[in-house]
Amino acid sequence: MREPERQGVATRRPRLRGRARAGYGRTISSPWPTTPPSAADRARYADASPTPYWLDALPDRPPQPPLAGPAETDLCIVGGGFTGLWAALHAKRADPARDVLLLEAATIAWGASGRNGGFVSSSLTHGIDNGAARFPDEIELLERLGLESFAGMRDDLRAHGIDCAWEEPGELTLAQEPHELAWLEEAAAQARRFGHAVELLDAAEVAREVRSPLYLGGLLQRSGAALVDPARLAAGLLDAALRAGVRVHEHSAALGLQRDGGGGAGAGGAGVTIATAGGRVRARKVLLGTSAFPPLLRRLGHYIAPVYDYVLVTEPLSAEQIEAIGWRGRQGLADCANQFHYYRLTADDRILFGGYDAVYRYGGPVSTVHDDAGEETFATLSQHLVTIFPALEGIRFTHRWGGAIDTCSRFFPFFGTALGGDVAYAVGYTGLGVGATRFGAQVALDLLDGRETEATRTRYVRTKPLPFPPEPLRSAAIQLTRNRLAAADRNGGRRGLWLRTLDRFGLGFDS
Ligand SMILES: Cc1cc2nc3c(=O)[nH]c(=O)nc-3n(C[C@H](O)[C@H](O)[C@H](O)COP(=O)(O)OP(=O)(O)OC[C@H]3O[C@@H](n4cnc5c(N)ncnc54)[C@H](O)[C@@H]3O)c2cc1C
Repeated sequence: MREPERQGVATRRPRLRGRARAGYGRTISSPWPTTPPSAADRARYADASPTPYWLDALPDRPPQPPLAGPAETDLCIVGGGFTGLWAALHAKRADPARDVLLLEAATIAWGASGRNGGFVSSSLTHGIDNGAARFPDEIELLERLGLESFAGMRDDLRAHGIDCAWEEPGELTLAQEPHELAWLEEAAAQARRFGHAVELLDAAEVAREVRSPLYLGGLLQRSGAALVDPARLAAGLLDAALRAGVRVHEHSAALGLQRDGGGGAGAGGAGVTIATAGGRVRARKVLLGTSAFPPLLRRLGHYIAPVYDYVLVTEPLSAEQIEAIGWRGRQGLADCANQFHYYRLTADDRILFGGYDAVYRYGGPVSTVHDDAGEETFATLSQHLVTIFPALEGIRFTHRWGGAIDTCSRFFPFFGTALGGDVAYAVGYTGLGVGATRFGAQVALDLLDGRETEATRTRYVRTKPLPFPPEPLRSAAIQLTRNRLAAADRNGGRRGLWLRTLDRFGLGFDS
């Protein structure tokens, strides 16, 4: 069996890095220990439950019945993550008479939606920098649409009474290497150009927010950033969808799609038949929100590389421990190297700590066996958390897990239709989908219904990312990119020939 490839990637928060960096000497450095993780580092998570903390903490809810027998519907949604749930809710809001049926292969939020860091970003482009580089003439519109969707999400939560521990304590991106301070300055200037409320902090000011010997400076963003409990968000969206009359079937995998010869369900287009083990669904329209899972449309596989990201959650911190690290403001935190961590406090003051490595396995399999297969990453994360916060040396982790991310080469979702326009999809969020899925779901609905909007007219929606090469080239290219990203981190952020070549072609690897 091939070894999984661990790669240096940027995840969970908008990219801050520019394309070319100059003015910094070549340094060989890293804030992280050069020794491998110790037995003590491994012991910290040895007893951790291999389940996502969010799903574990969620109160029991009645299961939704598997599909049993044939069904007909106006709109069949495949996938019960955020994309599918938002699509179901918004389809009903637009037309309460429309029949909507949602098929979920496992249980609601079993995929990335129940396993993420809970960082909500208004960015639809994995950061302004990334969006501006690809769509300079659209970035202003995309930023506005992102902020509108972010505000719309807040409003929807209120309107549907969804309590998902939404909080807006700001997001603090941290520099741990001198060259990263310049990245933060650039990011601050760019964010301000688009109306974001940001503050650059020096080391002393950062220490007033949260204390670590590693932090040299930070960028605090107060707009377009929130934290949620993602499983509670999904559960709330499910309840709202059920109240609106959506029929939801868990443990009901869609096995294939086929265009109907004519007639279909109801009047109108030819329609689509979706095969499941419990029966066939005949639908006028189908919306796919299947993320990193094997796609029902084979062509989508060219654009998506499933990448596993791993997370640890600690026991609740005591008041003394919080005091020792000074993290009273509950800001979402992330460091800003190519290989970076994201961390935040849960409602009961645990630290969720993830990122740094992400793992691509040959052929891109997605399976529950990989959810707890991050041993080396767990060990590294454990070692790094106490490097950041030495005061937490004795901490224990209670949960550890991994989840698959639908990475694409431009780092933000792409859209399209198939089977004569009766099927639409929104996939490729690349690790920043907690906020963007609400927008992505609406775009897919608009495409399905042939509605032209400000969003559907953009090149952002009408173009696809460059595809990844097939195996074995795919693995080789990802492995090389991971090596070069890690090397850039050690070399004062300088991007070598390989990364600059990828940059030139608008190709990249991120999660
Ligand atoms: C560890 C981790 C941390 C992350 N952290 C963040 C973060 O802090 N902030 C952020 O913005 N993003 C984050 N993300 C990304 C974010 O979680 C995703 O972008 C988002 O949840 C995607 O939602 P989705 O509905 O498109 O996909 P998913 O939540 O993956 O849902 C897809 C669903 O489709 C179902 N499905 C697949 N195939 C079929 C089929 N054939 N039939 C029926 N059902 C099917 C699956 O079972 C699954 O439930 C993270 C992801 C991971 C894995």
